[in-house]
Amino acid sequence: MQPRQGKPLLPYAEALQMLEARLAPSNPKQENIALSQAHNRILAQDVALDRDEPPVARSAMDGYALRSADGMEKRRVVATYFAGTAGNQVLAAGQAAQVMTGGTVPDGADCVVPVERIRREGDWLWIEEEPKPGRHVRQAGEMGRKGRVLLRSGHCLGTGDLGVLAGCGLSQVEVFRQPRVVVLSTGDEVVPHTTLPAAYQVRDSNRLLSCMQLQGFGAQVIHHQHVPDQPELLEEAVGQALAQADLVLTIGGVSMGDKDFLPQVFRQLGVETLFHKLAIQPGKPVWVGFHQQCWVMGLPGNPLSSFVVLELLGRLVVHRLAGGKQRFPRPMCLASLQGRVRSKARPRFLPARLLDSNPGWTAVDSVATELPSLQPCTESGSGDWTSLANANALLFLAPHQDLQAGAAVRYLPLSQP
Ligand code: AMP
Ligand code: MG
Repeated sequence: MQPRQGKPLLPYAEALQMLEARLAPSNPKQENIALSQAHNRILAQDVALDRDEPPVARSAMDGYALRSADGMEKRRVVATYFAGTAGNQVLAAGQAAQVMTGGTVPDGADCVVPVERIRREGDWLWIEEEPKPGRHVRQAGEMGRKGRVLLRSGHCLGTGDLGVLAGCGLSQVEVFRQPRVVVLSTGDEVVPHTTLPAAYQVRDSNRLLSCMQLQGFGAQVIHHQHVPDQPELLEEAVGQALAQADLVLTIGGVSMGDKDFLPQVFRQLGVETLFHKLAIQPGKPVWVGFHQQCWVMGLPGNPLSSFVVLELLGRLVVHRLAGGKQRFPRPMCLASLQGRVRSKARPRFLPARLLDSNPGWTAVDSVATELPSLQPCTESGSGDWTSLANANALLFLAPHQDLQAGAAVRYLPLSQP
């Protein structure tokens, strides 16, 4: 096999564009699920208010609903409205109604005076502040009229959204089916992570890691297994996976070694190549293609490479296959670098930890004027799986950078806290 000398590697931005172009018409199947299962799922329906909210004027305070036109005159208290009391009263001139927060403000009343600003003797009420129309009243429909669309199809449901779904009266929600993924790790030296490996063997740390990443992106891992570096066995496993999955993810075996059989296996199975090799560090050997409706992503075996490639490319593929519409690349955040980092000719992504010792970051009542500090994890190369310990960010370096402590750097937050 001849190395492709001199041919420039595909830039990362172009790879994303190629993926986007190919993924655009994704139209996943839908399913109807309970709200309690809907976190992180992608909506396949619009969600709108099913009534005016609030349907009637309600009090924002514990106090007294009254007519501002009566000025500072004493009033007679003619009713009490707790939250949950149906409103049927119309206040006449000189009348007031006691109201609790959330209680109906009766017709005729146009403001609420808080209980702290009144004096009451029996049924008589004196107020100590000038009543102003609309004060402390949540007006009917102020959150929106029936039919106001709050969430659109294609949106990924966060925790706040689940409260919105419940507020709209939904018990079930229409979401897109999660993409089904088969994960195949490869390598004769790779043994189950639960065994004690010989000195020439490595534990299969990537398979579990990849499965967890995929689930975090919104995929359903329907099967995962290890396959030795044998073309027939690889062909059988990939062939079976293509028949069942929306995405087949392989780990290892896509580089230039004599036992890196996967590109050849993909070709034999009729998988079309979208690209092979990318200008990023780590992750250069990545292979991406598709077979009919099924995507194939061949991650490099080195643990840091597989992690980074899955985060940068796999997240996009899974999100689109799941019906999501988020833009990629995701916007990066800014931090102040701790330590020194360098890159060579390729853009570089390094595991790093966002430190929580920054005073501007932790003080709730002061404005954060300083950038959070970002510490690169100690890393001895793309095979260094220990560098993922404590990582909660991917530090980004443009090509040919040599940055010192204190430099402003960009990073992608990882999903872990
Ligand atoms: P490869 O891309 O197959 O040449 O593998 C590159 C390096 O990653 C080798 O040193 C492998 O031992 C290691 N590696 C491959 N697969 C895994 C895995 N599933 N878990 C941990 N390390 C792996
Ligand atoms: Mg290998």
